[in-house]
Amino acid sequence: MASYFLSCNWPGNQKNMENMVTAFDPEAVFCPANQADYRIMLNLSSDERGIHCRGELKGRAEAEISFRDAEIINPLYSSEHFQQRRKEVVRRGVLALLKQSRDLELPWGILTGVRPTKIYHYLRDLGFYSREIREKLETLYLLAPDKAALLVEVGENQRPWLEAAEEQLCIYIGIPFCPTKCRYCSFASYPLSTHAHLVKGFLAALMYELEVIGQALSQVDRPVVALYIGGGTPTVLNHQQLSTLLRQIDQQLPMADLQEFTVEAGRPDTLDREKLSILRDNGVTRISVNPQTTNPQTLQLIGRQHTLADLDRAVKLVREVKIPCLNMDMIIGLPGESEQDWENTLKRLLSAEAENITLHTLAPKRAAVWDYSQIKQEINAEQVSLSLERIYAQLRIKGYHPYYLYRQRRSVAGQENTGYTLNGWEGIYNILMMEERTTIIGLGGGAISKWFNPETHTLSRTPNPKCPATYQQRIKEIVGEKVNKLFRSLN
Ligand code: SF4
Repeated sequence: MASYFLSCNWPGNQKNMENMVTAFDPEAVFCPANQADYRIMLNLSSDERGIHCRGELKGRAEAEISFRDAEIINPLYSSEHFQQRRKEVVRRGVLALLKQSRDLELPWGILTGVRPTKIYHYLRDLGFYSREIREKLETLYLLAPDKAALLVEVGENQRPWLEAAEEQLCIYIGIPFCPTKCRYCSFASYPLSTHAHLVKGFLAALMYELEVIGQALSQVDRPVVALYIGGGTPTVLNHQQLSTLLRQIDQQLPMADLQEFTVEAGRPDTLDREKLSILRDNGVTRISVNPQTTNPQTLQLIGRQHTLADLDRAVKLVREVKIPCLNMDMIIGLPGESEQDWENTLKRLLSAEAENITLHTLAPKRAAVWDYSQIKQEINAEQVSLSLERIYAQLRIKGYHPYYLYRQRRSVAGQENTGYTLNGWEGIYNILMMEERTTIIGLGGGAISKWFNPETHTLSRTPNPKCPATYQQRIKEIVGEKVNKLFRSLN
């Protein structure tokens, strides 16, 4: 673990610099200059020729940089873009110094955030063409060429879905229960084995939230285009609970403009024909069955109880009851797995002819059960990067293209998560949720409402409690605040 001292003559950049260092060195700690292994000092100035950056690195390694960034003088930018460019130049300076100290490539360069595609849309909105953006991503944002190409492709594919995004609404409903807890999971998820007694009260509170928010939505003129029930694993609910929930959704929420209705069924062993028929009969158009891996030992290791036979049976049933769109997730980088395991998992997903395949790179989380410091050595970062490239290539051969993308802190080898789709099956909710130009109303356990302000292009967030018992206890207060926010934000 290395310690860093960071300084910049332009104030307000401490966090910005820390994010860049952490992307390069996930174990980094920050401390005063006299205790630091590395001291990074930047000096910036600006004039009519652009932003000038000089910097030095001292301590265990020594380096110096000096460059001029003329991007901001392009007439497509105005003074309001100066702050953003300034932050980007600071990260560029930090990364340039770090790269001189250690031979390490960051595939995503100075893009340290969760949603790198936002930069594509930002630049496209300013009037730059895709080929110009790709060049900037490589030269100014220091992305590896394949990541720059991927980002531009995803951005281009998303543009049609973003045209009306600001006027639309999405609804997310969180069901925070699962059969067991996966060992890598940091979501709002409580195992039924220990928390089944909370389901009834939780659902009663959710029914109330649906009723009141539904009434409020009927008074605002906004189309709800995508509805997503996630969690947790919503399909842990029994037939009657699921049926009651879906009926309440149908009766209370404005569904006339709905283009997509997704239900997560992360665990194949929670599905049977009757449950799937209930979903289909209540308008569900997309289902997500997520094995993550098809290696039986890994399934045990990550804390799942389902078998490959459960998976095959679930996929067959989804097809038989004719839910139109099947998404399947896999994770690359699970401990103990090899390239062969990832190939096998992909093969199984392809043989299911899933309309959507979402590839995740393992991202160790502090809130997960696993102690990642103990299993770190089992994860081969280089192998993950190479396999990812091969898997992307195989998906393309089979007719899939990438349509949404996000990154997580600490993901193995600094890689990304990418949703691939067959033509015409893009997951609308995934695009709108990720690009943050649409208000998303979150109901249920751990759901976060995100209120988009079209004037400032910013989001404010109001989270529901993750704990089902707290959610139930505070439901009146939660719903009251949400209704106020809804009228203030959407009228
Ligand atoms: S199925 Fe999903 S939400 Fe449930 S424990 Fe596993 S990763 Fe978490």
